Amino acid sequence: MRTVYLNGEYLPENEAKVSIFDRGFLMADGVYEVTSVLDGKLLEFDGHLKRLERSLSELDMDKPEGFDDLLEIHRELVKRNDVDQGGVYLQITRGAADRDFVFPKDAKPTLVLFTQSKPLLDTPAAQNGISVIFADDIRWGRRDIKTVQLLYPSMCKMMAKAAGADDAWLVEDGFITEGSSNNAYIVKGNKIITRGLSSDILHGITRASLLKYAAEAQMEIEERNFTPDEARDADEAFISSASTFVMPVVKVDGVEIGEGKPGAVSKRLREIYIDESRKRAI
Ligand code: PLP
Repeated sequence: MRTVYLNGEYLPENEAKVSIFDRGFLMADGVYEVTSVLDGKLLEFDGHLKRLERSLSELDMDKPEGFDDLLEIHRELVKRNDVDQGGVYLQITRGAADRDFVFPKDAKPTLVLFTQSKPLLDTPAAQNGISVIFADDIRWGRRDIKTVQLLYPSMCKMMAKAAGADDAWLVEDGFITEGSSNNAYIVKGNKIITRGLSSDILHGITRASLLKYAAEAQMEIEERNFTPDEARDADEAFISSASTFVMPVVKVDGVEIGEGKPGAVSKRLREIYIDESRKRAI
């Protein structure tokens, strides 16, 4: 049985209990982060912590007790649960208070962390690539805040599954914003194209590092909006996220991309990303 962390305590997973009045449960009033683990070490910890602080501040949510010990808590959970590959999920909610739309004055934020062990490296998806469909982006306008309002992304994964695909790329005003739980990229003539940062998308921690590594490797990057037509017609496509790193996309909206196999640029970026993040893991 896993050991999880709840408000200052390490507990067996079946003993960790949160109030029915918790605003995370009643109102999705919470934020989260997922930090990947490779070789038992944390990837991109500082990036995730910084974005977490920003999410809290954008929502006027207090830091929970234990916030300053988050690195130690992550490491302790990885150790206690013997995680070699997988991730640490962290969630902070505004805490428990009688149900009211108005933020409570003195609720104590809830802090929960748990681990998930799963292979991240040589998965079939990484080797063969994944397929994506398009779906309307009907999410709220602050996608730069990593909140636990994940019902629509969850529905998108179900729509993809029903269509025999793996995931959905979201489309708004004729342009792709991002994947349901990842950032989206196409490659055309060796140019890597991905949407620029704004409140329309989550500012991926993987995206930031990946673009830095790609620039260092003299690869050409264009941060701009791109259309579903451009995606169907791309030489390559891929996604990035903490848990997928760089994952080739070989089919978009039923159309094979390139030769329907992971492309050279996507494969190289995946390699670079994994090598560089491994070196920096803590
Ligand atoms: N975009 C969305 C909507 C996401 O949910 C995620 C990750 O969960 C990402 C992008 C990728 O972000 P990161 O690279 O920080 O995992």
